Amino acid sequence: MRVGGPVEWLLEPANPDEFREAIVRARELGFEPRILGGGANVVIDDTGLPGVVIATERLARVFRPSASGDGKETDGSEFDVNLPSGQMVQPDPAWDPRLVCWAGAPLPGLCRKARDLGYSGLEKMAGVPGQLGGGIAMNAGGKNSDGTLWQMSDVVDSIRVVDPNGQFRDITRDEWEPEYRDGKLGDSIVSGAVLRFEPRPKLVVQEDTRNYLKRKNAVQPVTEWSAGCVFKNPDLEVSGGKTAGQLVDEAGGKGRSVGDAVISERHGNFLINRGEATATGVFQLIDEVRSLVQDHAGITLECEVKLWRAAGDS
Ligand SMILES: Cc1cc2nc3c(=O)[nH]c(=O)nc-3n(C[C@H](O)[C@H](O)[C@H](O)COP(=O)(O)OP(=O)(O)OC[C@H]3O[C@@H](n4cnc5c(N)ncnc54)[C@H](O)[C@@H]3O)c2cc1C
Repeated sequence: MRVGGPVEWLLEPANPDEFREAIVRARELGFEPRILGGGANVVIDDTGLPGVVIATERLARVFRPSASGDGKETDGSEFDVNLPSGQMVQPDPAWDPRLVCWAGAPLPGLCRKARDLGYSGLEKMAGVPGQLGGGIAMNAGGKNSDGTLWQMSDVVDSIRVVDPNGQFRDITRDEWEPEYRDGKLGDSIVSGAVLRFEPRPKLVVQEDTRNYLKRKNAVQPVTEWSAGCVFKNPDLEVSGGKTAGQLVDEAGGKGRSVGDAVISERHGNFLINRGEATATGVFQLIDEVRSLVQDHAGITLECEVKLWRAAGDS
């Protein structure tokens, strides 16, 4: 959203061990740390935040899994997800179609990487900003053209977390019970994950990615400053099949503003910063739009974006 103030303590670990250490030390000192991924889905208070924020930006590495059965997690080959496509390692058809990723691996880079390797599974994550850890914590996703859902959990093989006792723990896909836009990880923090893909011809993966992006760009204000969808879609049985964006639209929310914080005319579930918005304005507009929908449709919308307020998060 490009709003918000500073944090009292910002920690930027460079590898999973430092990440774990940062979490454990913060807790020992009486702080429950907030974890910042790409910040694509958080709105941070203007006055700033007391306590500790741990950013995962430096945990951006992605590896090929080990094929040797020597007990090592990776074979040491690393992919630079920030490299442009032309400079990528050429995939070998015999490769195990998984990637071992640290929490800060950027989702757009991962999509590009998978596409260039001919790995299918993340096509619909194209255009979703943020990082792997944030994507898993939020169980980010969207809707297929036939109305069914796709989500991050579709490609996760296992997740490595730092558990509430400060220990690394691996959660297999079978053990993981994510919900719509909620990874349901409790107090466990994502340190990394193994993603599993379906090998498919590169051109097909490329084409699907392009088509999906085209559909998304046609309806969402993707070039504006936003945090993506503000509200979760309500249970469609309760809302009569209406999405949060439709409910906001019908309640007259589109175009409503507080300062430079505005509900997009293009998509009722996108709150955009026209330039000089403040977090206070964003919080107020969210409250106003929620009341509008409550009065108009009798439905209480739940926030998808995380509101990090000095007085307590919601
Ligand atoms: C233009 C735009 C389009 C978007 N489109 C979509 C979309 O189609 N589908 C969708 O689902 N989302 C979408 N989003 C929202 C956002 O991109 C996703 O939610 C993304 O997964 C957030 O990742 P992040 O790393 O930025 O997380 P952040 O915003 O940094 O954090 C989000 C939450 O996850 C927690 N978190 C972050 N990292 C970790 C970690 N390692 N361990 C535990 N918790 C963690 C944070 O504490 C916070 O509670 C969009 C956003 C924008 C701006």
